[in-house]
Amino acid sequence: MKRQRILVTGGAGFIGSHLCEKLLENGNDVVCMDNLFTGRKDNIRHLMDNPYFEFIRQDVLEDVYVECDQIYNLACPASPIHYQYDPIKTGKTSVIGALHTLGLAKRCNARILQASTSEVYGDPQVHPQPETYFGSVNPNGVRSCYDEGKRMAETLFFDYYRQHGVDIKVIRIFNTYGSRMRCDDGRVVSNFIVQALKNEDITIYGDGMQTRSFCHVEDLVKGMLLMMDSRNGFTGPVNLGNPEEFTMLELAERVIRLTGSHSKIRYMPLPKDDPKQRKPDIHLAKKELGWQPEISLEEGLKKTIDYFQKVVFD
Ligand code: NAD
Ligand code: UDP
Repeated sequence: MKRQRILVTGGAGFIGSHLCEKLLENGNDVVCMDNLFTGRKDNIRHLMDNPYFEFIRQDVLEDVYVECDQIYNLACPASPIHYQYDPIKTGKTSVIGALHTLGLAKRCNARILQASTSEVYGDPQVHPQPETYFGSVNPNGVRSCYDEGKRMAETLFFDYYRQHGVDIKVIRIFNTYGSRMRCDDGRVVSNFIVQALKNEDITIYGDGMQTRSFCHVEDLVKGMLLMMDSRNGFTGPVNLGNPEEFTMLELAERVIRLTGSHSKIRYMPLPKDDPKQRKPDIHLAKKELGWQPEISLEEGLKKTIDYFQKVVFD
């Protein structure tokens, strides 16, 4: 197969670094562009000696000039505490980042994949969520910078497709976890594991009865590659996530059991607009990509706990 020149924006982040690694393994030439807001050089340090890997420290708000055949657009903080740190910048990153990478795709005739999110469904009134559901999103709340930014990015992707014939692919990622999440990432899986390993209180927001469905990063990256290589004309949006659904209380109990921790559960206030339930309908991904997750929560948590054990105690 011809070596593809591939740009990954947000490539030094949690998902991006796993994606870069896999793309290199498959014999591609990878350019990772990241401003290191939430990403880290440590996530890609092991790739730096590979002559087919390049890191560019750049913000997607600046013009992007990289000759390439494919683009994965992942640049955007994903954890609520990080995307709410500077919400105006988050909105800009989603929208201007989409414009810059779509402009590049148009000029280079490159195929471009957008990392959209289950957040486009907001606090969903339909359960599980199929791609045909338009969502229930607060347009001016604390999560809107991310949710509406990602919705606008999807709009731009489909407008570039309709207006300029750009070869787009849109995936909606549901809660994904695994190694290389930051200890201070703030999302639930890393929070609970780090707290359990340190025997600190496990912080459950609200009553813990809200649900999420957790996909291991290795499964997700397989789905991303299949989507990028899917037949011409299949644009998505397609949900990528694990349909096994858990309450946050169940997750906490499982993490405590798997780590053998002495942590106690501490209930804290529920953040505003926190979705009550979330679970992907993945029929479309199965049909179009032949994809479904293979790693159970139990197995994925064990791998992730092994990773954090090294990070927390080293
Ligand atoms: P992450 O925060 O680890 O990665 C995001 C990366 O983008 C970081 O390396 C960060 O430094 C970089 N970045 C942020 N703003 C930038 C900018 N203006 N210019 C250049 N780089 C910038 O988060 P992640 O979980 O790896 O998420 C990656 C992508 O997947 C994001 O677009 C996110 O919205 C999407 N996503 C993730 C999940 C999930 O559960 N992990 C769910 C839905 C969607
Ligand atoms: N959550 C929690 N304790 C934490 C972090 C998160 O109970 O320490 C809850 C949060 O309120 C939400 C769920 O876990 O209901 C998932 O939160 P996360 O930030 O991981 O992702 P998102 O809300 O974007 O799905």
